[in-house]
Amino acid sequence: MTLYIHDTLSGQKVPFEPTNPDRVTMYVCGPTVYNYAHIGNARPVVVFDVLFRLLRHLYGEDKVVYARNITDVDDKINKKAIDEGVDISVITNKFADIYNADMAALNALPPTYQPRATEHMPDMVAMIEDLIARGAAYVTDDGEVLFRVADYDGGSGRYGKLAKRSLDDMIAGARVEVAENKDNAADFVLWKPSKPGEPEWPGPKGLPGRPGWHIECSAMSEAKLGLPIDIHGGGQDLIFPHHTNEIAQSCAAHGHSDPAAYAKYWMHNGFLDFSGEKMSKSLGNVVLVHDLIKDYPGEVIRWALLSGHYRSPLNWTPELLEQSRKSLDRLYGILLRAKDIPLQEVWPDDVIFGPLLDDLNTPGAVARLYEIAPALDSMVERNDPARVKTSFMALANVLGILQQDPEVWFKQGASDDLTAQVEALLAERAAARAAKNWPESDRIRDALNALNVEVMDGPQGATWKLKGKA
Ligand code: AMP
Ligand code: ZN
Repeated sequence: MTLYIHDTLSGQKVPFEPTNPDRVTMYVCGPTVYNYAHIGNARPVVVFDVLFRLLRHLYGEDKVVYARNITDVDDKINKKAIDEGVDISVITNKFADIYNADMAALNALPPTYQPRATEHMPDMVAMIEDLIARGAAYVTDDGEVLFRVADYDGGSGRYGKLAKRSLDDMIAGARVEVAENKDNAADFVLWKPSKPGEPEWPGPKGLPGRPGWHIECSAMSEAKLGLPIDIHGGGQDLIFPHHTNEIAQSCAAHGHSDPAAYAKYWMHNGFLDFSGEKMSKSLGNVVLVHDLIKDYPGEVIRWALLSGHYRSPLNWTPELLEQSRKSLDRLYGILLRAKDIPLQEVWPDDVIFGPLLDDLNTPGAVARLYEIAPALDSMVERNDPARVKTSFMALANVLGILQQDPEVWFKQGASDDLTAQVEALLAERAAARAAKNWPESDRIRDALNALNVEVMDGPQGATWKLKGKA
């Protein structure tokens, strides 16, 4: 089974061949923790979680090492800490915990490593020292350390290879601050002095200060995964400057000229749009995951995020969520009817993963679930449907959906009181039926109807769900 992925660096769909199939590595840029994550921030998390699950399925659960960092050193964090009069760790610990809980609600598996920038300062400083020693970086009069972009590029076009742009274009497009201390307008910060009141760490060349954003990921990814990383991912907005600069620093620090020496494959998700624009904190058009999970089961939100191909824009609407809820209700209904079918210990047919192996085609995978579902439904009454159910669940597990007990799923709108009332009525009904007291049994059925409850009788006894669900 070969997995094909679209690689931003080569600009092509290519077969995925890890450097070491016994240790497949993936790094995805994580959040800057000073605020709640919006649903656009959750898109890369869910997309790369499907990839993580797929790689674990293909190579073995203990053969895939996934690092998703926490950026806990940043100007916005400093500002918030100063505004609130607290240490930055008060802000970053709070929002990292909220982030992890919110992403867990979307069924995102915890990554193998979740490195924090503050834990890797010595790695960053060592890398910057190496860059200075190689002449790839320089110290300015005001104590900043900058990376020499033009030297790294050397006229080869290598600096712009990921973004598919020339150095001149990028300088013009990025409107890089014209700073007198720069040898070249494209040079970017590796280390800079902290402002009064901001935290600082011992730095390269004895300069106290704080790292730039890009060096944080270069240091953390190498420390946790080793180079080259197999897959490096993130949102499209990170291609330039963040990932472009990560490649430049990491390659220059080791004297590599081929950008693939840092990461073999690059994958980028498209934007999640809301009211016609990219959802972003700066535009203020955000829907927070923290709020959404109060109103919708996490799987509904996850399904909505996977309903589009990861490289296409995804338009976020209330209808998308309602549609996702209906789709899941339907599939859970089938699983409820098939609940007594055991899972079989057979390796499912490769064909079920076809769409995911083709550049993580999640809409195709969802369509495949729908193709399998009728077979599962029609086999409910027969004797040997275990293989179908096993295949169906194998695909659902890689998508990270249908992870709940179907009975629990359908009861999630019911209060504890209602649940207790229904369970009591069902017990009375079972007793009435055992005593062949049909009028009593009918009376109880009417009472359940009045509670908007539908009863389903099966070989293992009766189950129930709220009406209006599949
Ligand atoms: P940030 O906290 O802004 O650094 O973003 C964390 C991650 O979310 C990065 O991988 C971004 O590329 C990604 N991201 C931010 N906004 C969106 C969006 N509207 N759609 C998809 N991905 C996004
Ligand atoms: Zn990063």
